[in-house]
Amino acid sequence: MLQLSQPVSILRMIGPSYLSKLKNLEIETIEDLLYHIPFRYDNYSLVSKVSDLQEGERVTVIGTIKFIKNIYTRHGRKIQKAELEDDTGKIDIVWYNQPFLITILHTGTKVSIAGEVRWFGKRLSFESPDYEIIQNFTHHTQLIHSGRLVPVYPETAGISSKWLRSRIYSLLFKFSPQIEEFLPGNILRKFQLMDEKEAIFSIHFPADYDLAQKARKRLEFDELLTLSLFAQINRRKREDEKTNLKFKVHEFGEKISKFIINLPFALTSAQKKSVEEIVTDLKSDKPMNRLLEGDVGSGKTVVATISMYMAYLNGYSSVLMAPTEILAKQHYDTISGFLSPYGITTNLVTAKNKGPRNKKRTKSAAVTIGTHALLSKNLRFPKLGLVVIDEQQRFGVEQRAQIREKGNSPHSLTMTATPIPRTIALTIYADLDLSVIDEMPLGRTTVKTWVVPSEKRRAAYNWIRKQILSSIPRNQVFIVCPFIEASESLTTVKAATIEYESLKSEIFPDLRLGLLHGRMSSGVKDKTLSDFKEGKLDILVSTPVVEVGIDIPNATIMVIEAADRFGLAQLHQLRGRVGRRNIPSYCLLFTEKENASTLKRLKFLESTFSGPKLAELDLELRGPGELFGLRQHGSPGLKIASFSDIKLIEDSKSAAVEILSTDIQLSNYPLLQKKIQSLSGKNVASN
Ligand code: ADP
Ligand code: MG
Repeated sequence: MLQLSQPVSILRMIGPSYLSKLKNLEIETIEDLLYHIPFRYDNYSLVSKVSDLQEGERVTVIGTIKFIKNIYTRHGRKIQKAELEDDTGKIDIVWYNQPFLITILHTGTKVSIAGEVRWFGKRLSFESPDYEIIQNFTHHTQLIHSGRLVPVYPETAGISSKWLRSRIYSLLFKFSPQIEEFLPGNILRKFQLMDEKEAIFSIHFPADYDLAQKARKRLEFDELLTLSLFAQINRRKREDEKTNLKFKVHEFGEKISKFIINLPFALTSAQKKSVEEIVTDLKSDKPMNRLLEGDVGSGKTVVATISMYMAYLNGYSSVLMAPTEILAKQHYDTISGFLSPYGITTNLVTAKNKGPRNKKRTKSAAVTIGTHALLSKNLRFPKLGLVVIDEQQRFGVEQRAQIREKGNSPHSLTMTATPIPRTIALTIYADLDLSVIDEMPLGRTTVKTWVVPSEKRRAAYNWIRKQILSSIPRNQVFIVCPFIEASESLTTVKAATIEYESLKSEIFPDLRLGLLHGRMSSGVKDKTLSDFKEGKLDILVSTPVVEVGIDIPNATIMVIEAADRFGLAQLHQLRGRVGRRNIPSYCLLFTEKENASTLKRLKFLESTFSGPKLAELDLELRGPGELFGLRQHGSPGLKIASFSDIKLIEDSKSAAVEILSTDIQLSNYPLLQKKIQSLSGKNVASN
């Protein structure tokens, strides 16, 4: 019998060419596919007769194709025209550029059509509706692409929601006996949770929105509970762990003070406080496991550097792992600049930069900075005392564990610019101690921010051109296009690409534009970013994937399209990419949704410049009403749940405490145990 844990490749319904595409969606096993969660539903539950159709309705109509044909327009486009008939009348259908449809749908094909009814010329029509062929229609026939709440999934090139829906539907029936309940009845009752099997059914094919919500709540709870258990178990483990890396700090007090005094700036008091908290950890006989949270530009790197210097003084080496080549290089430049006056050798290890010579140097370097290339088996770091991980949410638990295993219980410091409210950080990352840099270095200019009304768009573009051309070197501009779907789907990439093309040909033909999105190879991405960094491009059009930590000194303008789709904290992070020098910098927010509440929300950015405060505002302003919206983006590190579910986060934590209070080993919960194990093997915190 096939098992949930087996790879999708053994399914006959999934051809080999789909495997790598599915991998893009992080789907490798049958279970992954069943747990690929829709982010919204198209409501096609209303099934109507042709004669009852009204303009603007989103409906399903079941009928027979009368005819279908390809028509070529004057512009060389192919249109598919069809007519659908039921026992009350006929309606037109048009599709665009899907010539293969005439080989699928024929005169006489019985079909269920779902879409919006519109005037097309003088006749009511369906425009590009979804369709579903029906072999023998009885009232028992289960429609899956029409006639119901139709799930819409995160997609990738070559894998549509329709494709996923069909596969998931048939798998659900085959595998549902294997989906087992893994929570005890008292927890299910106490937190009013749906049964797991039912939740998996209802998240994909809910009978109504209410069931969809209950299913979602259950799956979010699962995710939060697993994280919470994982964190608490790790915390306990760590409390038992001893390290022989008890750093001496007092002995080197003078040297450390001197290092700090010789920095080109004075530390902010928040930086000082973080350094003190780190010192306390380093002196103790337990390995440090600390999360350093601070806005973009708050100066986390120097805090990490001071910690590395302390390791060096104690005779230990350090590594710093960054998520991208370009960030690693940036850290290398900064940190080696700080350390070389003290005769400390720093080395850079990336995929491009790890020849044998480099390896030799790694052996002797006190500080090694790199990408995940650092994890390579044959790299060793003698006397590794400190591991620093930048942008921790970009790495999986496993990678974070692997780098630590390069040493013998080394101290570890992870850094993030994601403003996670404190209470939530303490729940989800209960295994970490938290230091927050909640203050920007003095003299940092605040980024002047405007919500720009649409009638001023042209004027804004003119102003931007002036800004670019008015200084030497030129000021540079980011233009960020939003996520269109829940993840960076093709639609999103297309939107950024279209924006790029039109800006390039129509608005800024005289300037140098670059395009950046997550579907590019990392080589192309790095090249574009370094071109931008070196001033070879004036404007970078991108999806929100641009690395948050990236330091482009001449970037002074951040333009964000469809700003309403982002959370405030996220917008704040984006704007943190400009204003890094004391040059006036600007953030322009565009939105098509010019209603009072959206404008009011966005205008907070004109007056509020603290990431944590904006994160709190996000929590207040984005109610549970947005359950199926684009809200997920506000919560990096979570796949289904969201940081704004405070109640659910608290519930899941107390459930975790309750479960562990009687069963620390989870020996009565083998399934839960398995889930937690797979957490450490997978990128739980991918985003
Ligand atoms: P992040 O927290 O985003 O990683 P960085 O560490 O890259 O921020 O710091 C951003 C910039 O601010 C760097 O150019 C750094 O040298 C500078 N910086 C850091 N701390 C201070 C400070 N206390 N005063 C002035 N500038 C500082
Ligand atoms: Mg940084």
